[in-house]
Amino acid sequence: MKKLFIFFTTLVLTLSSVTFAMTPTYTNDAKFNRGVGNCCYYVDGSASGYANQISSAANNWEVTGYGWNPIYMTEVSSNYATHMDFYGRTPYTDSYLTGTIGAYTSYWNSNSTLVCNQTAFPTYDYFYTEIILNTNESASYDYRVAKHEMGHAFGLAHYLNHYSIMYPALGGMYVTTVQQCDHDTINYLYN
Ligand SMILES: [Zn+2]
Repeated sequence: MKKLFIFFTTLVLTLSSVTFAMTPTYTNDAKFNRGVGNCCYYVDGSASGYANQISSAANNWEVTGYGWNPIYMTEVSSNYATHMDFYGRTPYTDSYLTGTIGAYTSYWNSNSTLVCNQTAFPTYDYFYTEIILNTNESASYDYRVAKHEMGHAFGLAHYLNHYSIMYPALGGMYVTTVQQCDHDTINYLYN
């Protein structure tokens, strides 16, 4: 049986309120408290198998094809003071990776306390994020996954629009790249 690959972070959205007009409904107005103009990310050895997916995601968010946004990504070799840290884990080493969970993002303060539980989206600004990829799930290597989780790290929640990289499941996401609505939400948050 084909497994449904879903992303862990959950948010209740009412379909009736979702429109294609650009009022960003898929953010809690929480974001990196130091912006994204010098966004440093670190890929742990445990996530080295995703190096291409992660760099592709960084490039896509920088240059979306929909005009300017403030994102500038730099890969660095340690997780000191980074915005995003990528780790590969399995359900045996991470209790959040249960069922069909392929990846999730968690949000942290500068003193390394959690801003919110991994099952929720942040409601206030945060200092850094951790992106956990389930190395036991082949679908986690899909290039859309790193782009989707990076969107969460920037502060985007789920969006029940099949033409958004923030659609909450791969089966049902009709796009492979960051879309205008995703791009516009970055500008809404950070400009
Ligand atoms: Zn998600």
